[in-house]
Amino acid sequence: MTIGLPEEFAYLKVIPSYVCTRGCDYCYNVLLAQETSLDVAKLLDGVDEALRQAPRPVHVELIGGEPLQSPGLDVTIDLVERLSRNPQCAGIVLSTAMVAPDRLSRVIPLLSRVYLSMDLSNSKDNRKRLHIQRLRSVAELCDAHGVDLCLSTVLFGDESADELSRYVEDAKSSGVKSIGFTHRTASPMSKAEIAATVDQYHHLFRLRLAERPEIEIFGSMLDSIELSIIGGSRKAPCECGRNSVVVEPDGTLSPGVCFDHRRGRYSIMQFTQLRSERPAHLLEGMCGTCRLWSVCQGGCVSEAIRLNGSPLTRANLECEIIRGLASLIERDIAALSNDSA
Ligand code: SF4
Ligand code: SF4
Repeated sequence: MTIGLPEEFAYLKVIPSYVCTRGCDYCYNVLLAQETSLDVAKLLDGVDEALRQAPRPVHVELIGGEPLQSPGLDVTIDLVERLSRNPQCAGIVLSTAMVAPDRLSRVIPLLSRVYLSMDLSNSKDNRKRLHIQRLRSVAELCDAHGVDLCLSTVLFGDESADELSRYVEDAKSSGVKSIGFTHRTASPMSKAEIAATVDQYHHLFRLRLAERPEIEIFGSMLDSIELSIIGGSRKAPCECGRNSVVVEPDGTLSPGVCFDHRRGRYSIMQFTQLRSERPAHLLEGMCGTCRLWSVCQGGCVSEAIRLNGSPLTRANLECEIIRGLASLIERDIAALSNDSA
């Protein structure tokens, strides 16, 4: 039976378990009620079938919850070993916030990349602060096995420009090759918080240009803005359901990891259909005259559903942030042009 993988399928995300006891207050798994229970046999079947039907070898990312915490840990170790023997797997990626060497070292030799979740906020709610010495030991472990180490960092909004610069510098000196930044995507944001986030992305965009190629600073906002400046375009607002699909802990397929499960779950086919209908609806409204359409396309479908109850609307928060960021960067470009005139 065909499972309806998208034509451009190239990336499989697997959730060994939604369990994680770290307790981050912005955790989208918790805020979006993602609680599907683990069924090991069905999960393994789901992964095998997705790889069997994949039109080409694909990268497989294990993501949580926390893949290195029970009950995900045993499944993760088993999956990593199986995937390493599967010719349809082009590389194994692990997303984790765990740095315990006894756990990491059990899987690292078979991985191609680690996304390490680490935040820099001084807030008492930051559950992912990591001492630089520990970061260095993870970087050394990855380096010893030829594994790329990338940081995944969530902006709380309270990080100053100096702190962001220092964080990037520390990561670079520890051997980290790239850092992805995002804001708190599943929490409400006030106008002041949106403005602070725009300023942070603005600073990060400057750092991105200044630090290239020693360290790559990325994230969907930063990538989209640069793409817009160079006149590029995206095929879709994001990779969900286009070139990437998810195997849930019960073995079912879903389009992305960021969906609100209280509002029901979409099959890949339902989601593909929705996505093909969405541009026509959006282009009738303010997206129709927006200079960022080619790189934004209404933003995250899941955010639109969560905030407006409809996938055919735009992602309001993402919209405000990217338009704010674009204005600041356009102002920078205009100032540069005036200086050189
Ligand atoms: S570490 Fe990740 S999965 Fe765990 S609570 Fe924090 S955000 Fe959620
Ligand atoms: S920035 Fe806003 S208006 Fe522009 S394309 Fe994106 S969602 Fe639409």
